[in-house]
Amino acid sequence: MRTTAQVAVQRKEIGPGTITREPINTGKFSKPLARVYIIPERCKECDYCWTFCPNDVLEMSDEINASGYHHPKVKAGKENDCVNCGMCQAVCPEFAIYAKEVA
Ligand code: SF4
Ligand code: SF4
Repeated sequence: MRTTAQVAVQRKEIGPGTITREPINTGKFSKPLARVYIIPERCKECDYCWTFCPNDVLEMSDEINASGYHHPKVKAGKENDCVNCGMCQAVCPEFAIYAKEVA
């Protein structure tokens, strides 16, 4: 068994976010595709959703809502990258964003 120090050294060598071992059953699963729904008027521009989306699907829009806040939008070219993980919905304090699976 590796020590904590050995694991830390290995992680540093490999780098964060690198997959070191493919699960053996990935062929059994398909990647979900979801559509993101944004309710601009509820947004307070806290930036949680676009910061924490693991697939980097969201960004801040140039548009502002009636309260003067920039709401999120789906990045150009990322329309088919939402995997319905639910992170944006979970972190939004204003209930202003959610995703629904379409395929
Ligand atoms: S559901 Fe997940 S992948 Fe889709 S936009 Fe929200 S955080 Fe990103
Ligand atoms: S998490 Fe909610 S309130 Fe914050 S920027 Fe995203 S949509 Fe707006």
